[in-house]
Amino acid sequence: MKTIGLIGGMSWESTVSYYQTINQQVKLRLGGFNSAKLCLYSVNFAEIEALQRAGEWQQMASILTQAASALEAAGADFILICTNTMHKVADEVSAGINIPLIHIADATADEIISDNKQKIALLGTRFTMEQAFYKQRLQDKYDIEVLVPNSDDQTIVHDIIYQELCQGIIKAKSKQQYLAIIDKLIAQGAQGVILGCTEIGLLIGTEDVSVSVYDTAQLHAIKAVDIAIADSL
Ligand code: GLU
Repeated sequence: MKTIGLIGGMSWESTVSYYQTINQQVKLRLGGFNSAKLCLYSVNFAEIEALQRAGEWQQMASILTQAASALEAAGADFILICTNTMHKVADEVSAGINIPLIHIADATADEIISDNKQKIALLGTRFTMEQAFYKQRLQDKYDIEVLVPNSDDQTIVHDIIYQELCQGIIKAKSKQQYLAIIDKLIAQGAQGVILGCTEIGLLIGTEDVSVSVYDTAQLHAIKAVDIAIADSL
């Protein structure tokens, strides 16, 4: 079994989901006492969140590259960045290490493609919904059409992520707000919805939505297990 390297802590609430899903999947597939071989480098999210607000992406790229190098030195065979937003610096991080970085949008797109869906809603932080680094990859590499909420709804989605979900606060009212926003995107033709922030799965599940739900934290974690137990990298 290969060793998974996780860059987590963004936020730790969602890193818990990764750790749990990865180990549940290994047990499911290999049985008995099998559990995942992994190294976790967990950052201080207060530092990252402040740099995000300041737009200091270069500095964040350095922090994550340092984390990735530490994981490589610790024996990781490949790396996951356990957040969608921080994939804005994925190329820089990947260039700084000698092991593969498994992109969260690729893990998500693989599932969307295997479901034969082309038009998908994307919820995430404002960085993820607004900027090209994530949407463009889905569009250019996989020909997936991405629908995002209008600007007011993006503010609601973004604020709930930082003010509640990343702090472990789960509110029924916020869930209703998310579901109303998802309904608007379904009315625009979305065949599925990407939970494009690794904490949204703490608020919404597949059973809450009438179309397919793509929980990026789950799909990314499952992809890690596929690779960890496969014969080759
Ligand atoms: N975990 C979130 C994401 O997947 C947001 C926190 C962050 O900014 O990294 O985008």
